[in-house]
Amino acid sequence: MVLKNIAILGSTGSIGCSTLAVIRHNPTLYQAYVLTGGKNVTKMVEQCLEFKPKYVAMADGDAAKLVRQYLREHNLDIDVLSGEQAICDLAQLPEVEQVMASIVGAAGLRSTLAAIEKGKRILLANKESLVTCGHLFMQAVKKHHAELLPVDSEHNAIFQSLPTAVQHNLGFASLAEHGISKIVLTGSGGPFRDTEIAQLKHVTPEQAVAHPNWSMGRKISVDSATMMNKGLEYIEARWLFNASQDEMEIIVHPQSIIHSMVRYIDGSVIAELGHPDMCTPIAYAMSYPLRIHAGVPPLDFMQLSSLTFKQPDFNRYPCLKLAIDAYQSGQAATTSLNAANEVAVAAFLNRQIGFMDIAVMVESVLNQLTLAEPTSIDDVFEIDRWARELSTKLLS
Ligand code: NAD
Ligand code: MG
Repeated sequence: MVLKNIAILGSTGSIGCSTLAVIRHNPTLYQAYVLTGGKNVTKMVEQCLEFKPKYVAMADGDAAKLVRQYLREHNLDIDVLSGEQAICDLAQLPEVEQVMASIVGAAGLRSTLAAIEKGKRILLANKESLVTCGHLFMQAVKKHHAELLPVDSEHNAIFQSLPTAVQHNLGFASLAEHGISKIVLTGSGGPFRDTEIAQLKHVTPEQAVAHPNWSMGRKISVDSATMMNKGLEYIEARWLFNASQDEMEIIVHPQSIIHSMVRYIDGSVIAELGHPDMCTPIAYAMSYPLRIHAGVPPLDFMQLSSLTFKQPDFNRYPCLKLAIDAYQSGQAATTSLNAANEVAVAAFLNRQIGFMDIAVMVESVLNQLTLAEPTSIDDVFEIDRWARELSTKLLS
């Protein structure tokens, strides 16, 4: 059996660590050939000692120096590079077959596109790349014959529930022609789904990052609490599955056992169920169309008390509505929404603004948007920069 080489962009993060956990379960199938991180030196050195990649890159130059120094002390022969361009170069190496795109935020865009340009299999966790420039992104996938496998658990569940013909023409196949009536996105509603709306302005970062079901990075945990995460996933789903507004449905499902569903015109609903553990969608994306062990225990139906569902309330989750509306406006709006949200979430985590101010800030940035639709990635970064600057100004 030949080992498949994987580049994990953002290996020190939550998704990166889960990807390495799946590799740990399948050491005869996969090799962590490239690991990249931002500035977490300790985690990267730990990962290098265990997985012995061929190349490492750190976005931060000082962090790269430290990693290099530690690895030398451990007599490990691993090339350590630094900077965004190095991450892009490593994603394009001919020996790399699969690229896990798990850098958080718009920072993951260039490296993911670099991997697409080389026609790699992209295991897509970085939802921001579809949110900011879905059209350009999907066109690039098509042009370079890259293979896109969604890792975000909802999109992975939907992918698993789609006919093979749609899976093989992702983003371009017509859902209606394949008998599909709706894509049903489920979301837990986050830790505040039962909190009185009037109390939401008082919630703390600690309460917001304590997600009831999933263990995730801090930014995405706050996004789950505001349901901006579902809004970003709505945008992601529309690009990934070529879905119209009428073909989308969002349901709050507090137990996170059903990870999303597909409705067919004959009344059938196909869903993917499992424990809320990212190792499952990651393993599926890595092994598709085969299956491998993910280290996730089997779902015990006898232990499930009940599965419940309700409509999302836009008064509780204004960010969700802002995201849905932004998709209708276009990519300048979705890019601005994403950038303003990143600034607002960071400010909330820093205790500069309250929880409900996140939506207020995103909305006021969107209200001031006059920039034209992007026609290139540089345009996308220009809009991103504009929205970040305005958000930062609004903060002060
Ligand atoms: P995280 O914050 O835990 O990890 C982010 C990774 O990106 C780290 O390795 C970090 O070092 C790296 N990074 C940060 N800034 C960087 C920069 N400027 N340049 C290069 N690298 C940088 O985030 P996460 O929770 O693992 O999420 C990663 C992506 O996956 C996000 O786009 C998120 O929306 C998506 N996602 C995550 C989950 C989850 O369960 N965690 C689920 C679905 C989708
Ligand atoms: Mg998700």
